[in-house]
Amino acid sequence: MTYQSISKPKHRQFGKDEQLVDIYRIQSQALLAAHEFLDKEKIVQMMPIMLSPITDPLNHEVYEASIEYLGQRLQLTKSMILHKQIAIAKLDVRGIYIISPNVRLEKGIKTDRHLLEFSQLDIEVRDITGDTFRELMESLMIHIFSCVKRHCSRECEKIGVEIHTPDRPFNVYSSKKLRKQYGRDFEAIISRKESNLFWITDFDREFYDREDPNNRGSYKNYDLYYPEGYGEALSGGERDFEYPVLLRKILERGQDPNDFAPYLELAKAEQLRPSAGGGMGIERLVRFLTKRNHIRETTLFPRVPEEPISL
Ligand code: AMP
Ligand code: MG
Repeated sequence: MTYQSISKPKHRQFGKDEQLVDIYRIQSQALLAAHEFLDKEKIVQMMPIMLSPITDPLNHEVYEASIEYLGQRLQLTKSMILHKQIAIAKLDVRGIYIISPNVRLEKGIKTDRHLLEFSQLDIEVRDITGDTFRELMESLMIHIFSCVKRHCSRECEKIGVEIHTPDRPFNVYSSKKLRKQYGRDFEAIISRKESNLFWITDFDREFYDREDPNNRGSYKNYDLYYPEGYGEALSGGERDFEYPVLLRKILERGQDPNDFAPYLELAKAEQLRPSAGGGMGIERLVRFLTKRNHIRETTLFPRVPEEPISL
């Protein structure tokens, strides 16, 4: 059998995979728009790393994902937050971004928006406030949505979606107020109610998100959400960077400072800098743009929690 006869099947297959090509074209356009926007903002791209003795502790428990090499225990990257903070301190740049594969072996999470392996557009900018970073992300989202709308009209028509460019201002809610109003499911409830992208601020979570020094228990962090029930799009915050603060917060969370030793050494040597940033899930962005029921429909090789991986 010649190569040509393999590559030209008699019967063309129609169905899901054909839609996936349109979805990937939309994803390509979204990423192209993001690169273009960040380049104009003088935010420089770095390549991801997948192996490190330190990684994001996350705010929820996952199965351990690590390997041993030459007697050293190396974790698969859960996010690049700690490396972003180090990079922003060591490099003479306004900001950095990474398209970063993350492995999170989720425990008992079965939703329409979680994968075991996904990618983040992970951004960090030095010496800015969280409010300024949020403004930057609003402009980024508007740019991405309008580029996809402009350049992917054929693909959108084929898969039956219409892109609405988000409107400014994005609503901003405090997580504490929403929790009082709607209870523990507040994120899902408000996401179903809203019709535009919106923010929720002030979550009590990982040690690196900045706690208001004048108001302990209040955090200078934020999540961006999609409307229509699609849920969380991006998590981020201003960062704590001073050694005593980081150490206290690690201990308060019952974590082991040894797990972050090389990062804490830099903090102790006063080599970390103030910054703010955030990470946006790329598959979730594509899911929202293409209005898929499940995040698995955005990728040819989905790694879905609680399901065996076939390929
Ligand atoms: P996090 O810092 O954990 O909130 O992750 C940053 C962003 O990555 C989130 O806002 C989501 O858009 C995306 N994300 C996080 N976990 C997953 C997952 N398990 N599957 C797909 N996307 C995810
Ligand atoms: Mg999050």
